[in-house]
Amino acid sequence: MTGTLYCKKDGKPMYLVEESEKMSDGSHRITFYYRCPVCGYRINLEQIIIENSGSSIVIRRNLRVSP
Ligand SMILES: [Zn+2]
Repeated sequence: MTGTLYCKKDGKPMYLVEESEKMSDGSHRITFYYRCPVCGYRINLEQIIIENSGSSIVIRRNLRVSP
């Protein structure tokens, strides 16, 4: 993992959030992002989509890093 990130707006250390959602089609979406506890500023890190299509499981990873 990368080291601690600091908020661009107020310089506070940001923490890593892992958010898991179940989608309506049965797949799961897991999003990792950094969030500032003070102002709520968010930096998207990675999104993983796990699709369960019958007998096989498909995992898609999207790297989504904001500048
Ligand atoms: Zn902030």
